Amino acid sequence: MSGDFKAGALHCVDGRFVETHARAIAELRDQFDGAWVDQLTNPGATAAILLEDDSTSGVFANFAGIENLHQIDTIVLIEHEDCGMYKFLAENGHEEFVVTPETEKAVHAENAYAAAEILKAEFPNMEFLFRYATLDGYIEDL
Ligand SMILES: [Zn+2]
Repeated sequence: MSGDFKAGALHCVDGRFVETHARAIAELRDQFDGAWVDQLTNPGATAAILLEDDSTSGVFANFAGIENLHQIDTIVLIEHEDCGMYKFLAENGHEEFVVTPETEKAVHAENAYAAAEILKAEFPNMEFLFRYATLDGYIEDL
């Protein structure tokens, strides 16, 4: 059974992106020859990792859980445009979440790569992939 699973994907809870995230997962399954992709959600996706607070340990526990349960070897970090958690954090003094229309995708990329470095300490054998969902429903590489 474990061979049927490949990856765990972390994305934001934002309901506006349900269909886009589902399409991102479907594209990943195609890329993985049909293997399953488990889904984890958090407000702000990788924000929970970067904040290094109580929510961080939850993300680590969830990835450890699916690593043990499904022997995944890949973690996919999916960020998205117009993230409310980024606005909330930016307004509350977290400069790493401040974005403008011009810098938004680059900031998400920087944060996703930084989150991957934190995750690699705990999951050194995982491969990492990065995606970015747009309000128009596109899925781009980060
Ligand atoms: Zn969001």
